[in-house]
Amino acid sequence: MTGLVIFAFFGGAYNSHAADESEGVMESLPEHLIYLYTEVPKGDGPSVGESQLVVRDRRWEPNRLLRVCTFGGNKSVVALIRKVASEWNAVSSVKLDFGPAPDGYNCLVSNAGFYQIRIGFSERGYWSVLGKDSESRLDPLVPSMNLESFNRIYSEARYPAADITTKAAPYDKAVIRHEFGHALGLLHEHQNPSLKCQDEIKWEGPGNVYDYFAGSPNFWSASQVERNLGFIQNTDPDYQAGLPDAKSVMMYSLPKEIFKNGSSSKCYVSVNYEISAKDKEIIAKIYPTVSQGQVAQYAAVDRSTVKALPLAMARSESSDIKSRILVDLESNDDYVRRDARVRLASFLQSSPEVDANSLIRAMNGASYRYKLGVAVALAKSSESFDLDSQSKKILKEQANATDDPTLEASIESALKKAGDHAGRK
Ligand SMILES: [Zn+2]
Repeated sequence: MTGLVIFAFFGGAYNSHAADESEGVMESLPEHLIYLYTEVPKGDGPSVGESQLVVRDRRWEPNRLLRVCTFGGNKSVVALIRKVASEWNAVSSVKLDFGPAPDGYNCLVSNAGFYQIRIGFSERGYWSVLGKDSESRLDPLVPSMNLESFNRIYSEARYPAADITTKAAPYDKAVIRHEFGHALGLLHEHQNPSLKCQDEIKWEGPGNVYDYFAGSPNFWSASQVERNLGFIQNTDPDYQAGLPDAKSVMMYSLPKEIFKNGSSSKCYVSVNYEISAKDKEIIAKIYPTVSQGQVAQYAAVDRSTVKALPLAMARSESSDIKSRILVDLESNDDYVRRDARVRLASFLQSSPEVDANSLIRAMNGASYRYKLGVAVALAKSSESFDLDSQSKKILKEQANATDDPTLEASIESALKKAGDHAGRK
């Protein structure tokens, strides 16, 4: 897969401010994420859509609010990311939420719940995972996107937040648009089979593409070349291809040297700085606005794809995760509550020190959302718990006190797991 991705317009990752864009470094995944490439299920094979190249199974559910955090981003870089990436919001029912200005959300703050898009600045290059991979394939506290050094380049001293969008380099703004395109599920447009750029590339002979990228500054292996420029079906079977769009912000500006026809190749384009009309169309199409009733359907617990929590966690990490789960259980967002319930079930299994009894004790006087969260998590967990008699009593009381069939059924099933039944009075 290009599960994760690999972006870069030509020209940039490390020299984004350099005038000579032909010296740039291409987007490439860090080594620790490469393993994801080998794990993508083949699915049903590619299908053809109406336009462009997008993922299929890793799209977000419609109407989702994606919370975007940074690992310590300063006010200026946060303002830049917010203003530029928000352009996607205009056309999509999936909205990016950057948190309160001017600081935005900080990924490290544990009492604010989980984030769907987590931006780091300290790894190499520019990259983002695709769509829901940030939740279903990555651990919840690691970066899902990297904008190398943006936090240092766009310091508050050099770039006041107020006029950041006019002062920032056009190329860097294009990088933000591009990486958020990946986060929304867009693939590289130069790999769109209907554009047929593979036919244009010099795969062998003198000056071939492997030799070109093997050199400085990219130092790509043959497999990196194929992943980034080759047939998409070999690297990311979870794709849907449609009409080509050489104006897409997801299209690389590749060097003319790698094309058989040099600068007259149709795949040789200058940097596309803006989100194209077709980029907007495809995002609007895959993320249509749906009714609240449909959201409730999509937000059913068994449709969650959040990754199971690690089986072994340090105490501090475990405590961080627990705080976030408890916050998210109370969220106003159906999807966030759903995922928090699933995470709590996973948490109960993975952290032996988590005490189901203490979670149940806290049900007295708690919100409906908390009660339902704990009950669903207990019911959904594959462990059976040793609930003490006080816990069983509380669960039975809660079941008797509620008129809500979902809460009642979840408590029944939790009690069954603990070897007891609620038994109406
Ligand atoms: Zn990319």
